[in-house]
Parts: sequence; C-alpha cells; structure tokens
Amino acid sequence: MSIWFTEKQTDNFGITAKIKQTFVSERTDFQELQMVETEEWGNMLILDDMVMTTEKDEFVYHEMVAHVPLFTHPNPKNVLVVGGGDGGAIREVLKHQSVERVTLVDIDGKVIEYSKKYLPTIASGYNDKRVEVKVEDGFMYIADSKKAFDVIMVDSTEPVGPAVNLFTKGFYAAIHEALTDDGVFVAQTDNPWFKADLIKQAFHDVQEIFPVTRLYTANIPTYPSGLWTFTMGSKIHDPLKVKEERFFEMETKYFTPEIHFASFVLPKFVKDMTK
Ligand code: SAM
Repeated sequence: MSIWFTEKQTDNFGITAKIKQTFVSERTDFQELQMVETEEWGNMLILDDMVMTTEKDEFVYHEMVAHVPLFTHPNPKNVLVVGGGDGGAIREVLKHQSVERVTLVDIDGKVIEYSKKYLPTIASGYNDKRVEVKVEDGFMYIADSKKAFDVIMVDSTEPVGPAVNLFTKGFYAAIHEALTDDGVFVAQTDNPWFKADLIKQAFHDVQEIFPVTRLYTANIPTYPSGLWTFTMGSKIHDPLKVKEERFFEMETKYFTPEIHFASFVLPKFVKDMTK
C-alpha cells in the first residue's frame, strides 16, 4: 500500500507526494517535524504538515531569497538569516565574497540537526568559518540587534506556531533598527492564490517603514500553487536599479541577472496586492 503526504492549503485543495520512507517523525519543542524520502522530490522536510524544502526544487527558493537582496546591497558584509535551519539560504549567501559573517538564528535546533543528516547538499555551508549559528527566537534576537546587519533574510515557516511574530509590523520595525543605514531585508510572504491577505498586509506594513518596498516572485513547484512571493524592504538601494556590472559569475540553477529584474514583473492580480 502506498503512503502519500498531502499539505492541505484549504479544505478542498492540497499538494501531495508519494512517500518512499520516513526517517523522522517527531514533535520538537516548537513544531511537528517530519523528514521523509519522496519518490519525486528526493528528501523532504515537513514542519507542522507544511513542505519546507525538497532536495529537487530547493534551489529556486534558496537562490531567490539570498541573491536578490545580496545583489541589491552594493557591499554586503554582515548577513542575518532568521529561520532557515535547513541551511539552504546560508549556502547561497556564502557564494558572495564580500560576506564576512553570516549569522543564522533558528528557534529549533532539531531542524538544523536533521537537515545536516538528511539534507546534506542543502546544509552544506554549516562548516564555513564565516557562519555563526544561534538556536533562539529570531524575534528576540532582532530586538536586541542595532545597526548590525547589511542584509537580513526572513526564511521562516508560515505564520503559525513559532513564526507568528515574524509577520508583524513590530517585527519589520525591529528589522529596520537591526539594519545598517543602507540595509536591505527580504521575507518570504507565501503565495498569492490563497494568501492574498497575508501578502497585502505584509507589503503595506513594510511600506510604512521602508522607503523602498518591492514584491518579487519565484516558481516553486512543491509550495502550494507554485507561485511564491518575497517582500523586500530597503532603506536606500532599489533592486530595480542594480548596475549590470555588479553581477558576478556564480553557480546557480535559477537565479541569473535577468531573473533578478524579471522576478519583480508581477502578474496583474499580484501587482494589485501592492496597491
Ligand atoms: N523555505 C521554507 C518555506 O518558505 O516554507 C521555510 C524554511 S524552514 C527551515 C523555516 C524555519 O523557520 C524552521 O526551521 C523554523 O524552526 C524556523 N522558525 C520558525 N519560527 C522562528 C522564530 N520565531 N525564530 C527563528 N526561527 C524560526
């Protein structure tokens, strides 16, 4: 008998994948954690019944959460990743030679531990000496940081359980304080088919705090509806005005300088969410 995992987006729609084997299924101090092998997508991390990442398509999310803000900032040296315990975002951050330190703050040490074991190609950056890992609440960590980071990425779970506070205006205001004078931040803000209200709220909250606010998208097949959004807040630098010569060659599978700009071109119904 075959076993399928379904992430229900509504009572009437979900995304589903056939499971080959289950490595981990446990309740951590913060969330329900499953690490499984799927037939189609390789190993998959699931938190609170939501797909977090898979070996096959992870590159889209991780390249897009990292390279778009890192190329928007002209010289990112200190970078913070809030969440991101699977390690994919820091793996991409480390491709930028200007980066001297990347701090990862994930509330759940179990995500880090199991990602190192079962997602080694994603968690491949942890041994780099530029990486510092903190297992604590990102909200509290940000509240204690002042003008400390050039770029902050919020690579969190959806706003349920431990991540509820990470989708609030108070959090965006604290991020503003934690950034240097020309800092840039980006947060994953879910999908426009089922989470329009979340996107509108996040975009407008960020817009009240940051002079430059932009929404961009990427295509991620294992996330509900496939179309994913990222909301960027920046104190000075505009991602649409990055000079072509600032891009450098690196190994990627989704991100290119053309994608950097194209990802800000929004379908009309998504653009309307920014009005
Ligand atoms: N890319 C995924 C997505 O968009 O679905 C998210 C990646 S997953 C690794 C997100 C991580 O955020 C989890 O490891 C979780 O433990 C962490 N997280 C949730 N709430 C947090 C908080 N308040 N502070 C720090 N990390 C948090």
